[in-house]
Amino acid sequence: MDIPKTSKAMVLTEFKKPLELLDIPVPELGPGDMLIKVDLASVCGTDVHLARDELSMHPPTPIIMGHETVGEIFYLPDSVKTDITGAPVKVGDRIMWSHLFDGTCYSCKVLHEPVMCERSRGYGFSPAKELRGGYAEYEVVLAGTDFIRIPDDVTSEEAVGACCAGRTVVNAFEGLGRCGGIRPGDTVVVTGVGPVGLFAIVLAAQTGASKIIAVDVSPTRLEFSKRWGATDVINAADYKDSAEKVKYIRDLCGGRGADIVIECSGSLAVFAENLDMLAYYGKYVIVGQTSEDAVPIVPNKIQRKSAVVIGSHSGDIRHYIKCLKFVQANRKKYPFGEIISKKYKLEEANQALEDMRAGIALKAALVNK
Ligand SMILES: [Zn+2]
Ligand SMILES: [Zn+2]
Repeated sequence: MDIPKTSKAMVLTEFKKPLELLDIPVPELGPGDMLIKVDLASVCGTDVHLARDELSMHPPTPIIMGHETVGEIFYLPDSVKTDITGAPVKVGDRIMWSHLFDGTCYSCKVLHEPVMCERSRGYGFSPAKELRGGYAEYEVVLAGTDFIRIPDDVTSEEAVGACCAGRTVVNAFEGLGRCGGIRPGDTVVVTGVGPVGLFAIVLAAQTGASKIIAVDVSPTRLEFSKRWGATDVINAADYKDSAEKVKYIRDLCGGRGADIVIECSGSLAVFAENLDMLAYYGKYVIVGQTSEDAVPIVPNKIQRKSAVVIGSHSGDIRHYIKCLKFVQANRKKYPFGEIISKKYKLEEANQALEDMRAGIALKAALVNK
């Protein structure tokens, strides 16, 4: 099969400028590299911030964004026979992949936590000429990248959530599990019900928790969260102040506060306020905060409640695998595919970013067909 000479891509040539549709030469593939034809590339909140240079990291432009990608294998080198689970792969199979971890640094070798790899090579953040982002027709998946074949009975729309939000929450639940996890009958509050919050809700819904309370300011998101397992929804905008809202939520949890609070909103004010919702011996999981800014908190609220605070970042291939299995096992029960609320052609990527920023799309996705 002939490898195409060029690939169309929507390129972030400069921060704060619209993406440009460019033809990028397909780089020469190294031994073991694969070429993928992008099927579905979903737009992450991170991309919305990256395009405006609002993140703590500032990779050099031009960049092809897109780290949540499902693609078909277009070129498969002879050396690659299976995915990381041992499932045979062939040209045309759909796959998803994690960032590339070097396997030799302290985080990889000693901590066994490749997600903190000191020399990782990411997808969706690298120089455009390397063709490693989903906002394109084709994408290079470098040799040594962990990838998994997507089962035939799982649609790309259902699977793509596992590429970022899903794997991140599965990793966070592993961290929570190391601290006792969610026990039957526990009360759980999830603040912020975008894609990350939805995965927190659906995973909590399978634990035997007695209440899963979704908090957001978007009526659409709150309505949708019920279909992912939320038992109660709270529109934060309906309360005159923080104290009234916190009291209402504490009362919903039998007056004691929540056993588990999972912060997925990214709001600093919400981060601080959530400490007031925690019950004694509560666990506070932080998975949505990306700002470098500070917010005042009262440390005694953690000490006096004997609370546990758990931070969690991203996920490695084991979390992709577990999330995808979870989606496959529960796809009849929850509308995973509907997380993609709107689809756009590749050249409409600027509109997709704008609609995400405006909250019009829960999750936008670029399609290549
Ligand atoms: Zn993402
Ligand atoms: Zn490493």
